[in-house]
Amino acid sequence: VIQVEHVVKWIQLTHQKIVATKDKLTELDQAIGDGDHGINLARGLDAAIQNLSPDESKEDLGEVFQKIGMALIAKVGGASGALYGSAFVHMAKVCKGKKLISLAELAQVIEAGAMGIKARGRAEVGDKTMLDIWQPLADYLNEHIEKVSWEKVQQFLFEQMEKTKELVAKKGRAAFLESRSIGHLDPGAVSSTYLFIALCETLD
Ligand code: ADP
Ligand code: MG
Ligand code: MG
Repeated sequence: VIQVEHVVKWIQLTHQKIVATKDKLTELDQAIGDGDHGINLARGLDAAIQNLSPDESKEDLGEVFQKIGMALIAKVGGASGALYGSAFVHMAKVCKGKKLISLAELAQVIEAGAMGIKARGRAEVGDKTMLDIWQPLADYLNEHIEKVSWEKVQQFLFEQMEKTKELVAKKGRAAFLESRSIGHLDPGAVSSTYLFIALCETLD
């Protein structure tokens, strides 16, 4: 089962990974955006962690996801702040009042996050955005949840991430480049990969 302490650990680990790869994310966003993605996310995740009370065990998963979502909306800024924020707010809705969820429910929670991103950003899978990680992962987990190997999930995530390289960006700043966006990884897909690698490591 997954409980609040796992979520807290997940976001702390994500923060560490994003801080460690901030320059790489910034470089990726310099190529097809405005070069702030790493800085935006490191700042927002820092705020999200500060916001989680030390006695978070009193809270349910819905409250914790909601807090994280609100911190991301307020502090990440840019397109990705609203998008990551809506993902977590949608995840909060499905977890409302729950202190723990099963792995099968986790797949549905990630699916809800993907819906939040879609609702906010109007992107489809294949548009070269963070959705190209969230939606395929939700589908993969729904299909493999009976006996999930976190190592295989990580491998799957990196494959999905690499696929964004050959796509033409249809949403966000990168879309202005049209076919010149080909050959570059999508920064939001890369940061979402790290987010879920951190989840795999937390649950492994
Ligand atoms: P900004 O583009 O405002 O500077 P960031 O650099 O923080 O914001 O985030 C850029 C990332 O946001 C992109 O790499 C992409 O993954 C994601 N993104 C942008 N627009 C959309 C959208 N409409 N739907 C889904 N994801 C999007
Ligand atoms: Mg940017
Ligand atoms: Mg920006």
